[in-house]
Amino acid sequence: MSIPPRELQFDLFDVLKLAESPATRETFQAVLDAAARLAEEQFAPHAALADRQEPYVQQGRVVLPVELSNAMRSLADGGFLATSFAEEHGGLGLPFALSQACGSLFAAANVGFHSYAMLTQGAANLLVHFGSEAQRHRWIARMLDGRVYGTMCLSEPQAGSSLADITTMASPRSDGRYSLRGRKMWISGGEHELGENIVHLVLARTPDAPPGVKGISLFLVPRYREEEGARIPNGVSLIGLNHKMGWRAHVNTALAFGDTDECIGELVGTLHQGLAYMFMMMNEARVSVGLSAAAIGFAGYSYALQYARERRQGRSLVNRDPRSAQIALIEHPDVRRMLLSQKAWVEGALDLLLYCANLVDVSRSSSVATARDEAAMLLDFLTPIAKSWPAEFGLEANKLAIQVAGGAGYTRDLPLERLYRDNRLNHIHEGAWGIHGLDLLGRKVALHGGAAFDLWCRTITRTIDSSMGTAELHESARLLGELIGLARASTRLVMERQRAGDVERALSNATIYLDAIGTITVGWRWLDRAGIAITRLCDDSLSQDERAFLQGKVLAAQHFFAQDLPRARAQLGIVASFDDAALRLPESGF
Ligand SMILES: Cc1cc2nc3c(=O)[nH]c(=O)nc-3n(C[C@H](O)[C@H](O)[C@H](O)COP(=O)(O)OP(=O)(O)OC[C@H]3O[C@@H](n4cnc5c(N)ncnc54)[C@H](O)[C@@H]3O)c2cc1C
Repeated sequence: MSIPPRELQFDLFDVLKLAESPATRETFQAVLDAAARLAEEQFAPHAALADRQEPYVQQGRVVLPVELSNAMRSLADGGFLATSFAEEHGGLGLPFALSQACGSLFAAANVGFHSYAMLTQGAANLLVHFGSEAQRHRWIARMLDGRVYGTMCLSEPQAGSSLADITTMASPRSDGRYSLRGRKMWISGGEHELGENIVHLVLARTPDAPPGVKGISLFLVPRYREEEGARIPNGVSLIGLNHKMGWRAHVNTALAFGDTDECIGELVGTLHQGLAYMFMMMNEARVSVGLSAAAIGFAGYSYALQYARERRQGRSLVNRDPRSAQIALIEHPDVRRMLLSQKAWVEGALDLLLYCANLVDVSRSSSVATARDEAAMLLDFLTPIAKSWPAEFGLEANKLAIQVAGGAGYTRDLPLERLYRDNRLNHIHEGAWGIHGLDLLGRKVALHGGAAFDLWCRTITRTIDSSMGTAELHESARLLGELIGLARASTRLVMERQRAGDVERALSNATIYLDAIGTITVGWRWLDRAGIAITRLCDDSLSQDERAFLQGKVLAAQHFFAQDLPRARAQLGIVASFDDAALRLPESGF
């Protein structure tokens, strides 16, 4: 119930061309193999148990399954927390795309376990970019070897989507540090005994800060102050746990800072830049969230596929003889349709996420300045899409996986209902769905005078142009080109409306726009992948398995273009029509 090795090889080596030489490919493959083994041995076997045994509090301590602690130790010992960090920070210096591919294996196996790693890597990455020399020196290596865990403390009870309204206060002390007071809500991994300490990265205001997001700063607040070899509790107290629908192994907490004892934190970077730091880091965190959504969708698809091959039910549409043997579910056209939709969604989403991870690599380390800048700009534009589209269609895939298994899919005997519950989170955390729609249509399309949107159009148009000459792809490329034209036209209309001051109407269907742009983006990824598969299929010496694998790519692309892409045309039509019934209905009419 995982992501097949050949799938990740195709994405990393055939599509992204991540390995420049056979030796590098061998090294990367060895890392992937080790990750797959670890996921299979220490993550997957405990996913059901971690779902059943929710974290609980005993004598003030959070109790988690012991299997989690063992898995995290193996993950850290295997170097999987440090894969893409620079060697100077104790990392392995490998590509972020490779690290994300490993992450997809862990998330498919047991996303609740893997989240402790994701958050810790995110927090360590933030310190790499914005921490002081002393902060980096003190924390990063220990975070990457699994001794110290990280959290992100943004949300408060009254401030979820609206971070401008956070009230946690950081008052300066005479020693240059800050005294924190306030309450944080929904904090993942906020309290546990997995490591020797927890680094909370906390958004707070200083007493003289301007109102709104411009007055938010970022503070590093350890669970324990480490002074002269002693660990002193730092006034971070657990108010309680949130009891979640899924993703249960990852303990979710409400925390109080400075309620009982003084809580001391250090400023990260400069004052009032806190939200900007968080958002810069969140591009990578959001790629990880999208990746989890794709991976959970993939896990469901793999299981449904296996189930459909094994369970026999009914007879074919052309054979009604009750004396003949029943056929496997996978032989029914409607079941095949559901399986192919899942395949097209989860493979397309996974490819998009690895493409984005590669943009992180290029933006960090290309020797060409324009390549770095373009990669960063395209990544910024793609981030709300890469987070939200997999959240929507990974979940849809999980829904169809349950459908494929019928009644059994609806029971707790199969893992499918758990995967569905796990995946439901991805539209909520790291910015809710509607917030990303507003981010894309209200902000990103106009960013840099529309340059990022233009770059997205040009990047896709390049693939369209190079696919036009391939007979099997000509019609798909034409359709994608038509949709790029529609996207340009509806985006222009929305921007004109906004400029005319009718902002509410202009943006009221922003989430639908996000969905349409996401479908076009994944359509582009499928066009690219199908082109690569068609070229490879010209090789007569391919094994039967490899030929079937590549045909799977071509036909999944065809299915996506026939059954998914036309939806984007209708959605862009809704956006351009400024349909506003929901706005006009008085509240009492709902
Ligand atoms: C399991 C879980 C783990 C989490 N982990 C963390 C964590 O580690 N750290 C952390 O800081 N936070 C965390 N969060 C918080 C998460 O980021 C918030 O739940 C999210 O930002 C939404 O905030 P909210 O729940 O207060 O919903 P609200 O802000 O009340 O939003 C509710 C709905 O209204 C919509 N909405 C709100 N405002 C607008 C608007 N201006 N325009 C259009 N639509 C709007 C939203 O899209 C959403 O659909 C976690 C949440 C969950 C459920």
